[in-house]
Amino acid sequence: MEHAATPATTPASPATPAVAVPPDGALPSLVGLSREEMGAVVTGLGEPAFRAKQLWHWVYHRGARSFDAMTSLSKSLREKLEGTYTLDRPAESAALVSDDGTRKWLLRFGDGREAECVHIPESGRGTVCISSQVGCTLTCAFCHTGTQRLVRNLTAAEIVAQLMTVRDAFDEWPTPQVDRNITNIVMMGMGEPLYNYDNIAQALRILMDGEGLSVSRRKITLSTAGVVPMMVRCGEELGVNLAVSLHAVTDELRDHIVPINKKYPLKELLDACRAYPRVNNARRITFEYVMLKDVNDSPADARELVRLLKGIPAKVNLIPFNPWPGAPFETSPEGAVKTFADIVHAGGLIATVRNPRGRDIMAACGQLKSASEVVRKAKRAAKIA
Ligand code: SAH
Repeated sequence: MEHAATPATTPASPATPAVAVPPDGALPSLVGLSREEMGAVVTGLGEPAFRAKQLWHWVYHRGARSFDAMTSLSKSLREKLEGTYTLDRPAESAALVSDDGTRKWLLRFGDGREAECVHIPESGRGTVCISSQVGCTLTCAFCHTGTQRLVRNLTAAEIVAQLMTVRDAFDEWPTPQVDRNITNIVMMGMGEPLYNYDNIAQALRILMDGEGLSVSRRKITLSTAGVVPMMVRCGEELGVNLAVSLHAVTDELRDHIVPINKKYPLKELLDACRAYPRVNNARRITFEYVMLKDVNDSPADARELVRLLKGIPAKVNLIPFNPWPGAPFETSPEGAVKTFADIVHAGGLIATVRNPRGRDIMAACGQLKSASEVVRKAKRAAKIA
């Protein structure tokens, strides 16, 4: 892990950072460190451990961008921090605003790898969509990220830094109690969060800390394609809401469009949903269902969905397929989506249709990253020619 703390038994000299130095030799950033790691930073600089609480407050509650601003810390500690660490966020390779207000960032990390995060404003709330990996291993047939190979897991710090970037953009510091632009977090960006569980868990603990970014676990939803062995653990340890990318009602079709189904078929997946802790009618599991024309969008599919979800406090989120160049699917017509939603609703389930947002800025999963790679490749090719 990039930011693993070095246990400091004796105070290290200020020149010895308590976190790993970035590969390019730049000073390491404190943004994204856990409480333990920040404790090691402070003791590593020869300061008493309680100072870590103050540092935490400045980094995650106040969003400080300079050590100078940390007025409750002694001048000497501020100087030591200044010479050893930074408060840098990841570089922004691209930052786009859609006509509908959706904003999207492509962030570049220390090793040059990139991942996306998105802010979706809605009336009275705003949701940040966070990535968990660079690329993805799942190869879901309709997903654009699935066409990019997995490059690596994101570190906890890189996951936290995505929210910090969006909070900076709204200048939402210090962490407000009410009237937030950022109320909800969805782990629905690039990658499969339950294949990067340890880093996700550490990042979410930082996000949920009441003395910092202070996002309630009730406002966080983790979306999985169905990594069954990790689901209950996620519910028990983190207590966040669960969303499951279902997308098909038979194993035959799901094996094809969500290939992780071959490993963890529908029955096991739905059993894991039934076992998910703290689920009730007020706190339901979201089942995401991408509407693919003539593939999974018939009235019979809708009726089978109702039957499958019987007994699970569920809400169904129908997602019109977001097309990408070369995709082997088409978006279901509006009428088919409405009929499907009506059947699900009549079956006693909550059904919502996701309103496509940010299409003009390629806000769908993986699209901006791919587009930027195309531009870069074209630039390289132009240089060679
Ligand atoms: N790996 C996780 C989270 C990332 S994808 C998961 O599978 O849940 C977030 C959601 O967007 C998933 O439901 C995914 O199936 C859906 N999705 C991906 N590509 C899409 C597309 N082109 N159109 C509509 N939904 C898509």
